[in-house]
Amino acid sequence: MAELSVKRDQMVERHIARRGVRDPRVLAAMREIPRHRFVPDHLRPQAYRDSALPIGADQTISQPYIVARMSELLALEADHTVLEIGSGSGYQTAILGLLARRVYSLERISELAKKAIGRMRELGLDNVKVQTFDGTVGWSEFAPYDRILVTAAAPSPPQPLLDQLAVGGRMVIPEGDRQSQRLVVYDKDRHGVHRRLGEEVTFVPLIGRYGWDKRTSA
Ligand code: SAH
Repeated sequence: MAELSVKRDQMVERHIARRGVRDPRVLAAMREIPRHRFVPDHLRPQAYRDSALPIGADQTISQPYIVARMSELLALEADHTVLEIGSGSGYQTAILGLLARRVYSLERISELAKKAIGRMRELGLDNVKVQTFDGTVGWSEFAPYDRILVTAAAPSPPQPLLDQLAVGGRMVIPEGDRQSQRLVVYDKDRHGVHRRLGEEVTFVPLIGRYGWDKRTSA
């Protein structure tokens, strides 16, 4: 719908480009993917505001600026294979699908994964595979990955994910406590991994074997 694409252009201009995201491929992907189709019907009027929104099962679709910022930090190239942990609505997954060759995404809550799979199909993103699984153990079948993106808050970087990252690869992950985190960028070379701290963020917890314990989750 023309009107919605205008709203998307405005979202990208006001909340993303103006706040410093420059990568033209990321900005184009954010203009293209219809975020309103990733939120519950009654929240569609709010889809192009710069805020996280509830998507059911106590989870949220991330704020558009953060989706764009993390996509930019990944420095994606068109031939990359990407692993994403925390599909949620599938919005970030779809953005990655436009920017990379293949995307594998894991979501621990099956009702969310099912909806995300339906959305990938509707949008014709046939290079994206979403599955229900504990993403903290990674997805060894398709490893190594050029890029790994974790979109839930981790107490520390899950070792299986660092292991499944290709040499020359990069992982972006929010690390911290349950209330607030920093984005952390890991670059892997043949000597090991190098860690760089990014901005402050707030994500729902990463729950799993190498994440937070479910019983103590808020
Ligand atoms: N990028 C998503 C954000 C979803 S919120 C979006 O924009 O819609 C984070 C998601 O991570 C939640 O759906 C949560 O269920 C999921 N999650 C938490 N721990 C996980 C784990 N160990 N493996 C896979 N998914 C996990």
